[in-house]
Amino acid sequence: MLDAVVFDFDGIIVDTEPLHYKAFQQLLAPLGLGYSWEQYLECYLGFDDRDAFREAFRAGARPLSDQELRALMDAKAGAFQEIVSVGVSPYPGVVELIRSISGTLPLALCSGALRSDIDPILGQLGLVGAFDALVTADEVAASKPDPESYRLAVQRLQEIFPGRIHAAASLAIEDTPAGIASATGAGLKVLAVTNSYPQERLTGALRVVNSLAGIDLEALHLLP
Ligand SMILES: [Mg+2]
Repeated sequence: MLDAVVFDFDGIIVDTEPLHYKAFQQLLAPLGLGYSWEQYLECYLGFDDRDAFREAFRAGARPLSDQELRALMDAKAGAFQEIVSVGVSPYPGVVELIRSISGTLPLALCSGALRSDIDPILGQLGLVGAFDALVTADEVAASKPDPESYRLAVQRLQEIFPGRIHAAASLAIEDTPAGIASATGAGLKVLAVTNSYPQERLTGALRVVNSLAGIDLEALHLLP
């Protein structure tokens, strides 16, 4: 039996990359610094907002002051929230799975995204309050694949449910090699979903599935 389940966000609950891409283009295209979706996938996917703007200006051989960068980051956060407010589609089965676990088994979210990007999407999906604990990019010094964020998620659950949570009996749900490395580094088991990478790239997971559709809490308990 599992002690807890910890969900990743981007690539597990919602495919947020097209939304981030759209927000970046709204700001960069008017400056003559827009780029294609293919270029985004190839060059920008691993970057946080700060480095993504720096790279776009570097690629366009244009100077970028700290003040201008801060203004662009604020504007991008606003553009992203506006895009999200129009509506987001979750991956199949994930909202149902989260709802079935919530209140039954200790449940956390462990994400490299900003809290300000996550909250409006959880609101859209009717998942506000579904998680007992949330760990976001705002709270850790080292992002995945470092184990810090998963360690903090387990620690938060241990504080809320004293004596009930062991990392080795907790299951992370992840879509990337970096996420799997972070979770296993913190001692958790991993169920990987091929939403972003093919099965052969998701080594280190206990099990790899193509979708969370049809997976319920019973199935998660039977995994180990
Ligand atoms: Mg992910």
